[in-house]
Amino acid sequence: MTTLALPTDLLPADGRFGSGPSSIRPAQSATLAAVGGTLMGTSHRQAPVKSLIARVRAGLRELLAVPEGYEVVLGNGGSTFFWDAATFGLIRERSQHVASGEFGTKFATAATRAPFLAEPQVVRSEPGTLAVPEPAEGVDAYAWPQNETSTGVVAPVHRVADDALMLVDATSAAGAVVTDLSQTDAYYFAPQKAFGSDGGLWLAVLSPAALARIEELGERWVPESLSLAAAVSNSRRDQTLNTPAIATLVLLVEQIDWMLEHGGIEFAAGRSAASAEILYSWAESREYTDPFVQQAEARSPVVGTIDFAEEVDATQVCTVLRENGVVDTEPYRKLGRNQIRVGMYPSVDPADVQALTACVDYVVERL
Ligand SMILES: *Cc1c(COP(=O)(O)O)cnc(C)c1O
Repeated sequence: MTTLALPTDLLPADGRFGSGPSSIRPAQSATLAAVGGTLMGTSHRQAPVKSLIARVRAGLRELLAVPEGYEVVLGNGGSTFFWDAATFGLIRERSQHVASGEFGTKFATAATRAPFLAEPQVVRSEPGTLAVPEPAEGVDAYAWPQNETSTGVVAPVHRVADDALMLVDATSAAGAVVTDLSQTDAYYFAPQKAFGSDGGLWLAVLSPAALARIEELGERWVPESLSLAAAVSNSRRDQTLNTPAIATLVLLVEQIDWMLEHGGIEFAAGRSAASAEILYSWAESREYTDPFVQQAEARSPVVGTIDFAEEVDATQVCTVLRENGVVDTEPYRKLGRNQIRVGMYPSVDPADVQALTACVDYVVERL
């Protein structure tokens, strides 16, 4: 394939548009380098690393306006491990799951396979459309993704029932979408999306009701690595059950501080919203593109999915972009659509999203 060189004045300053792992700001990497000879390579059972975890917990409390009585808990393994931990430790008997994309479906599958739970209810809809949980008898936990990263659909977050837990997968929304956490019981996420850190960790803001459920289900056998009770007791001491990636924590703290210094969640969400406005209005204004998500309110401010007309090969566009250092605009692999997917987390400069659209125009005109 012939390479098409993009004019350098068209290129974004930072060409990383991944939906996860996502772009890491240079200041974060600089902080990491700065602690290379102090924090890195030291014990996670001693004060320096424990105080890092304390900063993560306190910083998130402020950033996300965590309600009184809720606790910030963390553990190793990422959001995928949290699904398994929640299957053991938060679902009493029957859950309901919204599954209109990859991530919602994965938690539904985990609960379906658990031999000690009743068959969960699964609310499905076509990828790219919004589905919401529906109040139902006998459901003790409702689970849905706030942002379905595979399709670019954002969902509202509010309680569907009073006597059940609301388990919200905020992996790609936390830190980028203003949310009232009092509407949730487990608001969980991982640091490699809006927080521009590395993967391998899960974080969860747990309500008093969720903490009580964990205690109530304490008799159920659970592998220690998936025990939420163990995660809670370790987190209260600013530790994790087993060794965490210190670099992940350093990058995460740096991002939380950056958001707080610039005005908190409104600032962070504002950056993403500004990027999204640029991307979707561009897609609507071009003959050969359309936002994949038809319903405007359901279009994600953090992960934009843009369909291409048949005559334009999105794979080819992504390839040319990649050759020019503009990376990770490929769509979610299993969705199989002729589209691009653009990560617009707070770290991404809206001006770079603008530049990306100009690059796509340039490539499409010349293909
Ligand atoms: C990325 C993502 C996950 C998976 O996170 P891991 O940390 O890789 O397990 C889960 N849910 C959503 C919504 C995501 O975007």
